[in-house]
Amino acid sequence: MNSYKKTADNPDSVTEELIRSGRAGDKRAVAKLITAVEAGGDRARSTLARLWPYTGRARILGVTGPPGAGKSTLTDRLAKLFRSRGVRVGIVAVDPTSPFSGGAILGDRVRMGDLTPDSGVFIRSMGTRGLLGGLSPACAGAADALDACGFDIIIIETAGVGQSEIEVASAADVVTVVTVPGLGDDVQAIKAGIFEIGDIFVVNKSDRPGADRAAADLKAMTETDGNAEKRSIPVLLTSAAGNAGINELYGAVEERFEVFAADGTLTARREERLRRVVLSRVRDGLDRRVIAPAMTDPRFNDRVGEFLARRENPYEWAEELTDSLYSEKMKGNRT
Ligand code: GDP
Repeated sequence: MNSYKKTADNPDSVTEELIRSGRAGDKRAVAKLITAVEAGGDRARSTLARLWPYTGRARILGVTGPPGAGKSTLTDRLAKLFRSRGVRVGIVAVDPTSPFSGGAILGDRVRMGDLTPDSGVFIRSMGTRGLLGGLSPACAGAADALDACGFDIIIIETAGVGQSEIEVASAADVVTVVTVPGLGDDVQAIKAGIFEIGDIFVVNKSDRPGADRAAADLKAMTETDGNAEKRSIPVLLTSAAGNAGINELYGAVEERFEVFAADGTLTARREERLRRVVLSRVRDGLDRRVIAPAMTDPRFNDRVGEFLARRENPYEWAEELTDSLYSEKMKGNRT
């Protein structure tokens, strides 16, 4: 028997081989692992389970803010600083607009292109469409794959435009919220859900007029926030394009990680993340194994006409079905 065939027949040994190669620095293997986890389904589940023993070392930094704020440029600059200190950087860039390698993704690639030949940097762009398992699990899975493959810091970059992007950013250990002067009402833009998740605020494009004012407004917001933790939040001015303020941002990121490690915030956030992972996996499992079969059962489909004719009550029936699925499961456990 040739060993290739043996391997190809067994998806688990293919995964083990990919993990081995990814950990040895093979970027194609890393890319394949991410593809496997982002696809959702059985393959994603078994890949995540196999990656798990190798995870837990990486730090995760979220970078979020409105499109065009300069997140990619900042991420690129930060990544270079991490690299100059020998830190391996994985980047997951979520592009809300493009499911394929369209405009923004190409833009990221072009700008970050000079980093990619470096074996210590891995960049993955992720479209929000076409991810069967959802955006958050796909990003969390990609982060696990990068963590398992020895990347020390993982930067998850999202445009803070929708709930799911905010969810992704809030799954990071430390979150940087990027804004720019002259967004009309810049403070307003940040109020839409992303203020709460920021651990560091950045006013980028400080070369433009109104930057100091925007920073002062943000500072005032953090200082008057009811939440005491918000009051110590750094508000920084940067010009990613002009390479100004990047060292300060880097310093603030390192400082937040240190503070959060010391005061228990990191542990609390990671525990919360794991709670959510398990909960969503359990929901997913129940959905697949219990609910989906019940919903495709012809006895259910036959009822629908009864509901429509008002001969049966869908609300009562749903409760009865839940009870009976639950008690069937309990019976199953006793045998
Ligand atoms: P993203 O959509 O938030 O990732 O933003 P990008 O990093 O793609 O930047 C959007 C545009 O703003 C690009 O044309 C950048 O060159 C430009 N840009 C980024 N940072 C700065 C800056 O500090 N000052 C100015 N004037 N332009 C910047």
